[in-house]
Amino acid sequence: MTAADDPELLLGRGFAPERRARALVEALPYIKEFRGAVVLVKFGGNALTDEGMARTLAEDVVLLKSVGMRPIVVHGGGPQIGDLLARLGKQSEFRDGLRITDAETLDVARMVLVGKVGRDIVGSINVHGADAIGLSGEDGGLILASARHPDLGFVGDIDSVNPGIIVRLLAEDMIPVVSSIGADESGQAYNINADTVAAAVAGALEAEKVVYLTDVPGLMTDVHDPDSLVAAISTSDLEAMIADGTVTGGMIPKAQACIAAVTAGARSAHMLDGRVPHVLLLELFTDSGIGTMVTKEGP
Ligand code: ADP
Ligand code: MG
Repeated sequence: MTAADDPELLLGRGFAPERRARALVEALPYIKEFRGAVVLVKFGGNALTDEGMARTLAEDVVLLKSVGMRPIVVHGGGPQIGDLLARLGKQSEFRDGLRITDAETLDVARMVLVGKVGRDIVGSINVHGADAIGLSGEDGGLILASARHPDLGFVGDIDSVNPGIIVRLLAEDMIPVVSSIGADESGQAYNINADTVAAAVAGALEAEKVVYLTDVPGLMTDVHDPDSLVAAISTSDLEAMIADGTVTGGMIPKAQACIAAVTAGARSAHMLDGRVPHVLLLELFTDSGIGTMVTKEGP
C-alpha cells in the first residue's frame, strides 16, 4: 500500500514504525525535487468552514516550508461572506460563479476575507511558529485591478501583479497568506475571484505548482458522479470543457485559472479535494497522482 491509498499513513498515527518510515522514504525524491520551489496553494472557502480541516491544511503548509519549499497561500471565503451577508439580511446573485458585488457587499467581502478568514489561516499556521504573514492584494501594490463589467459591480479583473512584496516576504522565510482583494490606482477596492488571484500570483512568480483545494474530488465530466474524475488534462482540452458547458459555476474561474497558471509558466496546476485530510501532502510527496492535474501537454 502506498501513502496515497491511505491518507492516515502520512500522518503516521496508529501505524507500525516501518510503514511510517516507508512513507518518509517515498517522500524523499519529491522533497529533493521541490527544494526551493514556489508552491502556491489556494484554499477554497468551503475547505475552511471546518476547523479540523483548516488545522490540517495549516500543518501541511508548515511541512512544505519545513522541507525547503516556499509555500504561498491564497484564500477565498465565499461561504463566510455569504454567512455574514445573510446575517445582515442581504442576498447575493451569482453569474458564472462570480458574486455580483455592490458597495455594501464589497465592504462585507473585504472585512470577511482580510479581517476574518485570512486572520484565521495566519493564526493556524503560526501555531507552528511565526512564519505566516497575512496581506490583502491591496498591500504593497500587489494586485492592480479594475471593474470587470458594470453589471457585476465591484468584481475586479486583474490588470497587473506586482509581486515585490511577496518576493521580499519569501526572502525573509515568511509564508505569505493573500486575501483576494485588489485595488485600482485611485484606491478603489475590488472583490476578485481567489482562483484568479492564485493563478496571477503564480504566473508572476513563475511558481512550480499551483494547487487548488476545493470541495469536490477534482474536475469531473459529470459533476454528480465522482467516478467521472479527470485525472489529467491538457490546457486545450480543458478549454474545450469550459466551452461545451461541462464546467459550470465556481469551476469556471478555477478551470480558467489552471489554464492561465500553466500558460504563464507553472509546470502544473492541480484541483484537489480539500476535504481529504492531508491531500496536499499526498499530491506533493507520493507516487500516485490525486485529483486533477492540468499541464500544457496533458496525459
Ligand atoms: P471553491 O471554494 O473551491 O472555489 P467553488 O464552489 O467556487 O469552490 O467551485 C467548486 C464547485 O464547482 C464544485 O463544488 C462543483 O459544484 C462545481 N462544478 C461545476 N462543474 C464542475 C465540474 N465539471 N467538475 C467539478 N466541479 C464542478
Ligand atoms: Mg470559487
